[in-house]
Amino acid sequence: MSTRFSDAEVLAALEECAREPIHQPDAIQPDGCLLSLDHAMERVLQASANLDAYLDVTARDAPVAGPSRVLGARLLGRLRRELAGRGQLPSALVASRRHADHVRRYHVLAYRSGNRVVIELEPMGGRRETPLLSAVNRQLQALARAEQPSTLLDGLVEGVRSLAGFDRVMVYRFDEDGHGSVVAESRGEKVDSYLDHHFPASDIPPQVRRLYSINAIRSIPDATADAVVLVPDRDPEGGVSLDLSAGMLRAVSPVHLTYLRNMGVGSSLSVAMHGDDGLWGLLACHGRTPRRISPALRDAVAAMVYMATSRLLLLQSREDARYLQRVHDSRGLLTRERGRLQGPAKLLRRHGPEWLALFGACGVALVYRDQVARVGRLPGRARLLQVAEYLSGPIGRGEAWYSRRLRSSPLAGVFGKSQWCGLLAVPLSVGDSSPGWLLLFRPEQVETRVWAGKPQDVPVKREGRPVLTPRSSFASWREEIRGSSLPWTPVEHRAAVELGEDLAVLAVSREFDELNSRLIEANRRLEHLAHTDPLTGTWNRYRVEQQIDAEIAAAERYDRRCALLLFDVDHFKQINDCYGHEAGDRVLTALAAQVQRMLRGSDYLGRWGGEEFVVLATNSDADAAGFLGERLRQSVAGMEIPGTQPVTVSVGVTTWHPGDNRRSMVARADQAMYRAKREGRNRVCSEV
Ligand code: GH3
Ligand code: MG
Ligand code: MG
Repeated sequence: MSTRFSDAEVLAALEECAREPIHQPDAIQPDGCLLSLDHAMERVLQASANLDAYLDVTARDAPVAGPSRVLGARLLGRLRRELAGRGQLPSALVASRRHADHVRRYHVLAYRSGNRVVIELEPMGGRRETPLLSAVNRQLQALARAEQPSTLLDGLVEGVRSLAGFDRVMVYRFDEDGHGSVVAESRGEKVDSYLDHHFPASDIPPQVRRLYSINAIRSIPDATADAVVLVPDRDPEGGVSLDLSAGMLRAVSPVHLTYLRNMGVGSSLSVAMHGDDGLWGLLACHGRTPRRISPALRDAVAAMVYMATSRLLLLQSREDARYLQRVHDSRGLLTRERGRLQGPAKLLRRHGPEWLALFGACGVALVYRDQVARVGRLPGRARLLQVAEYLSGPIGRGEAWYSRRLRSSPLAGVFGKSQWCGLLAVPLSVGDSSPGWLLLFRPEQVETRVWAGKPQDVPVKREGRPVLTPRSSFASWREEIRGSSLPWTPVEHRAAVELGEDLAVLAVSREFDELNSRLIEANRRLEHLAHTDPLTGTWNRYRVEQQIDAEIAAAERYDRRCALLLFDVDHFKQINDCYGHEAGDRVLTALAAQVQRMLRGSDYLGRWGGEEFVVLATNSDADAAGFLGERLRQSVAGMEIPGTQPVTVSVGVTTWHPGDNRRSMVARADQAMYRAKREGRNRVCSEV
C-alpha cells in the first residue's frame, strides 16, 4: 500500500536518508571487538559489549581494568609508539593474547577519532599466509599485463573471486549522474547476473561516498548478524557518538542491511576505486550466505583493486593521449594555415569532416560574429546564431558549455524537441570577449537502460513521516532513455577547448588583417577626399600645389623641365545666369573630363578654384607646353554639352626657370592667362 507524498516530503525523506549518521552507529559488527581510549591511551572509555568473547575482560570491567590490563603492556606499548604523531597505524599489527586458556592471534587496527584512540581487534584465521601471497602475486602480474580496460576489469573480478570465493564479484562504474553500472562481473551459477545493470545513485548516498574516501574497504561478513553495542553507547565524557569511519568493524546501517537482504546478499565486501576526479567505481563482492574472510585476504583484495585501478587509469590516460594526439595533428594542420587566413566557411569545408569524426559529432558549426559556417547535420542558421548569443550572455557567460540533454537544458527554448540532444560549445575567446563559437552537435542516442530493480523514490509512512526504504525487488527493469546523446568525455571537452583556442587565434589574426585592409581602404578614401575636388573628380588645389612643389624639387635636382598651364572658362557667369548653376556644374565636370582625356600619364590636372584649372606638364619645354595649351583650348571649344552653349577657355602658359618656386611660377601663368583674357579670350598666351 503506497501513500502519496508531496515533492517536498519526498525531498525531505531523501535528505533525511542522506543525513543518517552512518559513521556513528554506536555499535560494531560482531566479527571483532573495539575499545575507545583517551588521547594519551591511559584510560578505557568505551568497549564493545562482546569484549569478553575475545579478551579476558568484560566491556563493563574494561574502564576499571585499564588499557594495560585489557590489551597487555606490550601491545599497548607498541600501539603508543606506532601511533605517536599519526592519525592511524601505518599498517595493522599482529598481536597474540591469551583468552580462555588459548593463545589467539589478532589483527589490530588503531586510529584516532577526535580526541579518542579507537582500537579494533579481529581474530586471525588459521590459514597460512604464504600461499595467499604467492596467489595474489600471480593475480597482480596478470593484471599488470592487461592492455584493454575491459580485459583488466574482467581479470580483476575473476581474480578476486578465485581468491576470496564470493558468489558474485562485480565492478560498478559511476556515471556523471552518480548512477552505477556493472561493467565487469564474475559469478557462480546460483546467482543472477547484474552485468550491464544500472544501480541508481541513491543506492550509494553521499555520506557513503564520503566514507569510501576515508576508508576504501567496507566489509560486511554477515548481513544477518545483530550489531554489538558499545558500552556505554556514548562517550562517557563528551556524551558524543564515536566516529568509526576509519575502522573495519563499524556496524551497518539498518537501511543498508534491508537493501542487502532484499538483494539476497548475506555478506559483502566493497573496495573503492578512486580515479583522478573522485570515486570512479567500486569493486563489490556478494555472498549469498555470511562469509568471513581473513583480514589478510581482505587486504589482498584491496591491493588487487588498487593495482587494477592504477592500471586502468594508466590505460585510460594512454587512450586519452592517443586521442589528444589526433586532435593535436588536426590542430597542427590548422595552425599551418594561419598565413593563408581562411574564412570560417573555407576552414570548415577543409577541416569539418575530420572534426566530425574526432568528436563523434553529427554536425559542426563555426559561428563568428554574424557569419555561420556549417558542416554536417545542424540546426538552421538563425538557431545557431541564437545559441551563440545565449552562450555569450546569460547562459554560458562566454565559457565552454556542454550538455547531452539539450531538451532539458537552459537551451531547451532554442531546441524544443529537435533531433539534436548533445552540444559541446567552446568560445573562440579573444581577451574577455567571445566573438565566435565552435559548436559540436550530437544526435539523440536512445538508450535502453536495465536497472537492477525499479528505482523508487517512493517513501513509506513510518510514524507519520515519509521514510525511504530500499526496493524489495532487484529483478531487471528496463527503461528507455530518450532525449540524450552520448556523453561528452572530459578529454573531448579538453580537446575542443584547445581547438577553440587555435581557432580564436586564427580568427583574430584574420580579423586584424581584415581590419587592416579596411583601414587601408578608409585611409585611401580619406586621402582621396582630401586630394580630390568633389565636383569634377580632379585633384583639388591642395593636391596640385603639392605636386607642383614636388615637380619643382625634381626639376632642381635632376635638371628636369616642367610647365604650368592655367586656364579659366570665359564668361562663365553667363552660363550660370542663362542655364542655371547646375548646368554650370555640368560644364565644369565635362570640361575637366575632356581635358583629363587629352593629357599624358605624366601630366596632372587640378581645379585651382571656381572655373579655373591647372595643368602641370612634366618634361615639357615652352614649345611643348604652348602646343598642349592650344590643343586644350581647341578641344574645349569643340565640346558639346547638352543644355548649354559651347564654352571657351583662356589659357596662360609658363615653364620652370631655375630659382622659380611655386608662387612665382603660378604668378607668371596667371599673368599669361589674364593677358589671354585681355586679348579677347579663347586663346593661349605664354609667359616664359
Ligand atoms: P571671365 O571670362 O572674365 O572669366 O568671365 P567670368 O564670367 O567667367 O568671370 P567671373 O569671375 O565674373 O565669374 C565666374 C563665375 O563662375 C562666378 C561663379 O558663380 C561661377 N562659379 C565659380 N565656381 C562655380 C561652380 O563650382 N559652379 C558653377 N555653376 N559656377 C561657378
Ligand atoms: Mg571666367
Ligand atoms: Mg575666374
